[in-house]
Amino acid sequence: MPSTAEELDRKTFFYNMLVPVMNKSSYKNHKHCSSNGLNVGMYLLFIKPEIKTPSGLQARPVLTSYYKSEQFKNRPFNKYNVITSPNDAILCEDSQQSMYCQLLCGLVQRSHVLRLGAIFASAFLRAVKFLENHFTELCADIRTGTVASWITDSGCRDSVLSILNGPNQELADEIEALFNAKSREGILKRVWPKTKYIEVIVTGSMAQYIPTLEFYSGGLPLVSVMYASSECFFGLNINPLCKPSDVSYTLLPNMAYFEFLPVDDKSHEETQLESHRIVDLVNVEIGRYYELIITTFAGQYRVGDILKVTGFHNKAPQFSFVERRNVVLSIDTDKTSEEDLMKAVTQAKLIHLQGLLLTEYTSYADTSSIPGHYVLFWELKPRYDNDPPMLDKKMMEDCCSEVEDCLDYVYRRCRNKDGSIGALEMRVVSLGTFDALMDFSISQGSSVNQYKTPRCVKSGGALQILDSRVIGKFFTKRVPQWEPLGLDS
Ligand code: AMP
Repeated sequence: MPSTAEELDRKTFFYNMLVPVMNKSSYKNHKHCSSNGLNVGMYLLFIKPEIKTPSGLQARPVLTSYYKSEQFKNRPFNKYNVITSPNDAILCEDSQQSMYCQLLCGLVQRSHVLRLGAIFASAFLRAVKFLENHFTELCADIRTGTVASWITDSGCRDSVLSILNGPNQELADEIEALFNAKSREGILKRVWPKTKYIEVIVTGSMAQYIPTLEFYSGGLPLVSVMYASSECFFGLNINPLCKPSDVSYTLLPNMAYFEFLPVDDKSHEETQLESHRIVDLVNVEIGRYYELIITTFAGQYRVGDILKVTGFHNKAPQFSFVERRNVVLSIDTDKTSEEDLMKAVTQAKLIHLQGLLLTEYTSYADTSSIPGHYVLFWELKPRYDNDPPMLDKKMMEDCCSEVEDCLDYVYRRCRNKDGSIGALEMRVVSLGTFDALMDFSISQGSSVNQYKTPRCVKSGGALQILDSRVIGKFFTKRVPQWEPLGLDS
């Protein structure tokens, strides 16, 4: 998406708005203050490498542009609203080194930290997992006042060394003891005891991470403060300490020209009704569902998000995020549609499945471990009889790999480069499982005539039915191919 210098200013305005919105609510509700008079946050922010397009233009993810800008470096609230991560650690392209250094700085300043955050819940939980895996090494660095030798980025090293400011045996022992305790429940609250909330987006597909965040944070408020995309930054949550299920975003009319395509309340599909014509921001109706369309100086976009009008702030409508159209699976920044999944599954079965028929399939985003991973449920039938299928381990693993190879660029990057998605898992279920799934849906009120196998299940009864009939589990044995040729955010 093309971008202009003015657009960067608009985004900066948007970010600057977040600070007073957040401070107003947190002071009203929590009356907190820190020992050094600063509002210190451990915010874990990352960039990705940029490329040149064939015409010589620079291309990079939207947040990378912002973090590399002068506007970010000179943000007006920086003096008071500080974050523990030094710019040089944020701007390190090696995400492992960047993560290590940002966590090290956050740990050293733990007694001042009042808030924790990242952009999306998935990235924050990856950092928590990284912390669990590296706490011994991080504590060793705090104890000796040095930085691990594998941190070779000089900007990272120098900035972290200046924050470490010499050895601190006592702090290292304290943190290590917290991690060596029996349970990790509430660990974030113990490591950063003054933390009042965790600022990560937990609406939309990120809602799947709420239970894990609650476990690690010991129930701290989860704050979804902004709604944005590569095309445009849309709006803010002006009541940020509300429950995740009550989050609404107020769109900022200066960010783009907003239009809304009314969609059916249940199917979220466009209808041909006369009353379903595109409307402007001022004409949306409370309780109705719309697909968002925006026009910026760089073009007009159907973003693909379905929003519901929940109320008004003065005259500005507020929207809850309902879902992204056509996305069945998402763990991190990946967005896999029913069609993407079908193509990948079809390719895998055609190439690798021998002697067996794939009679039905569905999928599940398993986020019970970090990183989360895709799970496919396959019902397989021998081609020439109705006996339970013989499952050849190598063949099933090849099917898993083929599915991953066929998924899109962002999925493969998350798997291959970022490590933000784990190995794809295939759970083969016994014959008749999908009939049991249909019976269950019908018992819950689905119509027999209109029943369609869901291509993705969420937790709950359907998942239990599938899981209770698993006869074999397989994982991909290699990461999918990925070349840094295209772009994503
Ligand atoms: P991208 O352009 O890849 O950064 O993805 C932007 C998309 O992420 C949006 O169009 C939404 O579908 C989703 N998204 C961004 N912010 C939020 C949010 N606060 N809540 C739910 N989904 C979000």
